[in-house]
Amino acid sequence: MSDTQTRDFIRQIIHDDLESGKHSEIVTRFPPEPNGYLHIGHVMSICLNFGVAAETGGRTFLRLDDTNPGRESEEYVDAIKRDVHWLGFDWEDRLTHASDYFEQLYDSACRLIEMGHAYVDSLSADQIREYRGTLTESGRNSPYRDRGVAENLDLFKRMRAGEFADGEHVLRAKIDMASPNMNLRDPALYRIRHIPHQNAGDEWCIYPMYDFAHGLSDAYEHITHSLCTLEFEDHRPLYDWFLDQLEPAHRPRQIEFSRLNLAYAVTSKRKLNALVEEGIVSGWDDPRMPTIAGMRRRGYPVAALREFVTRAGVTKKDKLIEMGVMENCVRETLGDEAERRMAVLKPLKVVLTNYPENKVEMVEAMNHPARPELGTRDMPFSRQLWIEQDDFMEDAPRKFFRLKPGGEVRLRFGYIIRCDEVIKNAAGDVVELRCSYDPDTRSGTGSSDRKVKGTIHWVSCEHAIDASVRLYDRLFTEANPNSVSDIHGVLYPQSLETVNAKLEPALQQLAAGQAVQFERLGYFCPDEKDDSVDARVINRIVTLRDSWAKLEKQAMQQQV
Ligand code: ATP
Ligand code: MG
Repeated sequence: MSDTQTRDFIRQIIHDDLESGKHSEIVTRFPPEPNGYLHIGHVMSICLNFGVAAETGGRTFLRLDDTNPGRESEEYVDAIKRDVHWLGFDWEDRLTHASDYFEQLYDSACRLIEMGHAYVDSLSADQIREYRGTLTESGRNSPYRDRGVAENLDLFKRMRAGEFADGEHVLRAKIDMASPNMNLRDPALYRIRHIPHQNAGDEWCIYPMYDFAHGLSDAYEHITHSLCTLEFEDHRPLYDWFLDQLEPAHRPRQIEFSRLNLAYAVTSKRKLNALVEEGIVSGWDDPRMPTIAGMRRRGYPVAALREFVTRAGVTKKDKLIEMGVMENCVRETLGDEAERRMAVLKPLKVVLTNYPENKVEMVEAMNHPARPELGTRDMPFSRQLWIEQDDFMEDAPRKFFRLKPGGEVRLRFGYIIRCDEVIKNAAGDVVELRCSYDPDTRSGTGSSDRKVKGTIHWVSCEHAIDASVRLYDRLFTEANPNSVSDIHGVLYPQSLETVNAKLEPALQQLAAGQAVQFERLGYFCPDEKDDSVDARVINRIVTLRDSWAKLEKQAMQQQV
């Protein structure tokens, strides 16, 4: 963090606080609610919170913000821990829960009552809403607002003891029903919920509200900077109000930054949950999902995700980042790392009529064009080959440099072939090409200086491995599906296409989690869940070129 120019506004504040001696150590927290899987927006928050602490020798808590037992589960807790670790961050012994502090929070609520800053309200939820007023109209005091301290304490204790039904009473802060900030109109502190809690069991039937629990949990953990997204800006006066009244020994400071949104993706757990619940995707880890679990299964490398949020930056301005930016990070990371292989996604058979029936030659293929140290492998070449359907065109325009009737093309690492005859089925579809090869043109032999314009990839039929390859596309037709109330209308039906592909035999050794480039096609890796040695299931991580560029440019222009 030496370069001032690359310091975002939060890192600048932290830097200043260290320099002025306001803090000697930075303590942050990442506080997800375990009510769903983490998504790309959370990646930004994780990298920011763990990042600023790591850069300054500070500490970060992973705090499960579990104040809403009805929506939370152990499955989500486990997924959150796995995802944060996978991103390369470690909370060490600082895994906490808002529920760890339920007793302290209860005591703090009692103190607020004793100070005359909180009261038990017995209006119904509907009445409370009605009394709250609107943005243009101030609210009205509840008839229960002036209950005495003793009565309030008694009722609150009995709320805890389980004497009342859900909704019968709530504990509210006594602030100002006329405040222009709706958050300060006597916000609820505790409500009665007779349901068990995934961490606290059935010890409680009253649960604290997020706003009350959050700032105090920050204080208990000695958090110095409580970094959250902009929607909490209007809650900051309340955050500070609790600290002002209760004066904990440590006072955290809330700072807001803008949410990260990814184009053509939803970044709301509620909407992601709907996709899962309705079976629109196969689960939270469906490779089309912008969840960390989905992106990991798709094959996105950690380095690419971290680079992506770095490029997105920490700002105060809402942003919708193009999918192309994310995919470029993935391409750049994999471009260096991934070895090259050959695979044919939509196979068309080529028979080399002048190649001996049973002959098999091994041709030498480079594993990485820019990294000779990664070596070569042998690929079998024989009389019958698979090529890509798209690499042949019967009525080809002049500029089509792949295969056409009478035309020539080079088979990568192999020979130049000429298309002599096109075989069709009864329906008129091309099912096979009869070609001849030129034995003097084998790659790397230098025996011929013949040149052709096009080079295509191929796989020997006899040696090919069958694979089911999943080609993913965006889930939505709308650039900002977050802004759409009904996502059903903007679903992209072609978001998944599965093809029966042919792989070169070296891909038999492709290990779980290993990404490769299929030449001319993109980056691919075995599916974490469904792939096996006997039945290969491969995910397309990303194509080689930015197929989004045009689409996104148009959509972004419409946005602004
Ligand atoms: P969602 O709307 O998806 O449920 P959330 O804000 O309710 O998101 P939390 O589990 O409460 O999710 O979030 C944990 C932390 O991650 C919070 O500090 C929140 O501000 C941050 N966060 C959530 N979404 C984003 C996002 N899109 N960009 C940056 N930070 C985010
Ligand atoms: Mg939340």
